[in-house]
Amino acid sequence: MSLPAPPLDPRPRRRPDLVALEGYHSPQVDVAVRLNTNESPYPPPAAWAEAVAEEVAGVEWHRYPDRQARRLRSALAELHGVAPEQVYVANGSNEVIQALCLAYGGRGRAVGVFEPTYRLHSHIPSITGTSVATGARSAELSLDLDEVRRVVAEVEPALTFLCSPNNPTGMLDPPEAVAEVAATSAGLVVVDEAYAEFSPWSALELVDDDRALVVTRTFSKTWSMAGARLGYLVGPAWVVEDLSAVTLPYHLDAFKQAAGRLALRFEDDMRRRVSAVVAERARLVAGLGTLAVRQWPSAANFVLFRPVDADGSTVWQGLVERGVLVRDCSSWPGLDGCLRVTVGTPEEDDAFLGALGEVLT
Ligand code: PMP
Repeated sequence: MSLPAPPLDPRPRRRPDLVALEGYHSPQVDVAVRLNTNESPYPPPAAWAEAVAEEVAGVEWHRYPDRQARRLRSALAELHGVAPEQVYVANGSNEVIQALCLAYGGRGRAVGVFEPTYRLHSHIPSITGTSVATGARSAELSLDLDEVRRVVAEVEPALTFLCSPNNPTGMLDPPEAVAEVAATSAGLVVVDEAYAEFSPWSALELVDDDRALVVTRTFSKTWSMAGARLGYLVGPAWVVEDLSAVTLPYHLDAFKQAAGRLALRFEDDMRRRVSAVVAERARLVAGLGTLAVRQWPSAANFVLFRPVDADGSTVWQGLVERGVLVRDCSSWPGLDGCLRVTVGTPEEDDAFLGALGEVLT
């Protein structure tokens, strides 16, 4: 029997709406001082690693994990003073955003984003076939409520993304502004609070089963657990139900559920690390203040700055040559010439400030 001839080009074609889409990349350059991805410069406590090892020794690995992640969700609910039914957990807060887009986005639906902001707020909707309506922040990079009203009126977004503190500007949205967006929006307002523990205010106080607003959080930054990939959402119980409907069975493994739950026992250590980073942020800001750069006020663990008389990409390259990696945002919308530096240890920040001083002179 002869087999049919294979087609000339056997490769399946990508979905037409994804043909032009590039993957999301943050350059991982092997240098001594890495201040480009807003991780914690400090590891979690050794006692946490010991507790995880002990717990993991008792895991029934031949069994699927708890599909509802009940103990982890209860511990998070207790941390935030909400009901476990108001907490949804996933593999990083990016996956929470993906679940939101799967549940509420898709063909014929739009999300609203306000640039410059976290790039995955438009990238993830695109992957899920959701269109993206873009509004602009003000010239000072703060949230512009007139732009929010315009986008809401034009496309009635199924999801309106806010980011507070905003990545990559570091700026905080005031409570009145977030409440106003929630009152104005047609669909669900998503407040991405990946950096909230570094800031003086959180939209968690607005979460209520009668308000279409959710807050997303991550273990990647303040909990020093970027390697674990764990994030969550706090919001109305009906949102959590909708997200569960689009979630793969047993998406959160037993190891991660234990690692996250046990981390919450070390909240005091987390708060101490956050205080150290906030104090170090002030020192970094003061150091930047002595150099020829413009910088924006940050309520997060990073600072956005723009060299006054030098090209952003050239400065980025000069820093890499001196063993320091920061984020090059200079070609992002609304961020001409800007770079973003994560707050590191005092030694790392001194290395950064020294290298930047050299590059700028
Ligand atoms: N939201 C914002 C604003 C972020 O900056 C990041 C990380 N860069 C994330 C979400 C994703 O965090 P996670 O590691 O939990 O996926």
